[in-house]
Amino acid sequence: MPIKSAKKVAVIGAGVAGLATSIRLAVKGYDVSVFEANEKAGGKLSQMTAHGFRFDMGPSLFTLPQLVDELFEISNQKPRDFFNYLTLDESCRYFYQDGTFIVGYTDRDRFAKEASEKTNVDKKKVVRFLKKSQFIYQSTAFLFLEKSLHLIRSYLSIKVLISFFKLPFLGLFTTMHKANKGQLSNPKLVQLFDRYATYNGSNPYRVPAILNIIPHLEFDKGAYFPQKGMYAIADSLYNLALSQGVTFHFESKVQEISVVDKAVDGIIVNNDFVETDYVVCNTDIYFVYSNLLKGVLLPKKIKQEERSTSALIFYWGIKAVFPQLDLHNIFFAEDYEKEFQALSDGHTIDNDPTIYINITSKKNPSDAPANCENWFVMVNTPSNNGQNWDDIIQQTKRHILTKLSRLLKTDIAPLIVCENILDPRGIESKTASFKGSLYGASSNKKMAAFFRHANFSKDISGLYFCGGSVHPGGGIPLALSSAKIVDGFFKYN
Ligand code: FAD
Repeated sequence: MPIKSAKKVAVIGAGVAGLATSIRLAVKGYDVSVFEANEKAGGKLSQMTAHGFRFDMGPSLFTLPQLVDELFEISNQKPRDFFNYLTLDESCRYFYQDGTFIVGYTDRDRFAKEASEKTNVDKKKVVRFLKKSQFIYQSTAFLFLEKSLHLIRSYLSIKVLISFFKLPFLGLFTTMHKANKGQLSNPKLVQLFDRYATYNGSNPYRVPAILNIIPHLEFDKGAYFPQKGMYAIADSLYNLALSQGVTFHFESKVQEISVVDKAVDGIIVNNDFVETDYVVCNTDIYFVYSNLLKGVLLPKKIKQEERSTSALIFYWGIKAVFPQLDLHNIFFAEDYEKEFQALSDGHTIDNDPTIYINITSKKNPSDAPANCENWFVMVNTPSNNGQNWDDIIQQTKRHILTKLSRLLKTDIAPLIVCENILDPRGIESKTASFKGSLYGASSNKKMAAFFRHANFSKDISGLYFCGGSVHPGGGIPLALSSAKIVDGFFKYN
């Protein structure tokens, strides 16, 4: 009897979702090849070294680590043999302009006590707020994170029906800011929780309050840090994929997905035709339609979708140690609404932006020379619409230095020993993200977070989609969930 050869899958893009999909399908017996335009795997998860400092260049906050562990487990490997992480006691330190300082303890009661002491909001109110976040998570996560919302069968269960009855209580019909103001009233605490809208690049003054699901991740599910830094996620998944027989082709930008009789039959890469049975795109969905599928019109919905925010990041080697800072630190804007107006309406960065500083050397001392720290200093930006970024960057750097010097009571500029900068143009060109958006389309509209592009093509058989620009959305946990949903479409080979 002839031996049946394994069906071929071509994965376009080696971002975290492409890596996870490749592992999952290799485990199921498919012959998987990954084609990646860059010279390395990871996509937005990347790192750089300079003058003895190591910097994670993209994501810095790690939640739901079990989604990474699961990939080792289905491959019959012990996650802790290859990928280790710390459980954080503090998710973030929050600094306000008047000197108020709140520690975001990941333990719910400890945080509620801290928040209550610093803002005079009744501790019970804070706990109630976090329980509401848990309620939203428990009512929606199983449907939102684990299933395709574009299949009727996903809705055919009692659990889902019960969730529909809960809809009026989930915050779909008000904005995150209004809900937070109503529940917490204290402006500092409201600002702290409004910031979670930025976890998927949205605007708290417009995004529906159902996005209050996000704090539950940190305050109940926990915040983590991979022992060798965030890039270890991509690196360990790349090695796991290799061990499962996945083949990688780097510096191989796919030019076209070949379709015959409404079915995928191959891809064109480096001007060569590569035959395949299935294609999984880990690329921004906008470019799938505008570049890779010839003769298929870019759907109007995708064309008109507002993009999520992008980022401006300064990677600074700092020759000093700041004991008041931790791994994740936020220096809030005085007027948060004005900051978001500048982003949304002005397409620019306000002159008092909220500043995020990530310092991995706090947890991993080898990331910086002795008595130094590696600062990843980030502000939110609009997506790239051809703004004069060079001018914006210079102005914003001045504003950041003035604010940090004042709040940290130290002149920061003379402490910077090396600098690298990433802006929306760089994010767009390095990871082929339309307009440099970090999370694909924004979730500002009422149902936007729930109706992103499906994980499969309705018109072309054999074509699937994973990654931050499709369902369920951006960020590492959701990108990994998209790989799991795609996996669900494939039987064992
Ligand atoms: P991507 O990382 O977008 O990678 C797609 C890959 O496809 C790229 O490698 C690209 O080169 C490749 N590609 C594109 N077109 C082609 C082609 N035609 N042929 C071949 N290859 C192609 N998430 C969090 O969870 N926590 C955070 O703290 C966080 N912070 C962030 C901060 C920054 C600055 C950035 C940039 C992102 C951040 N995110 C964060 C978002 C998170 O990084 C992304 O949602 C996630 O990494 C997206 O993964 P992905 O699988 O969609 O692929």
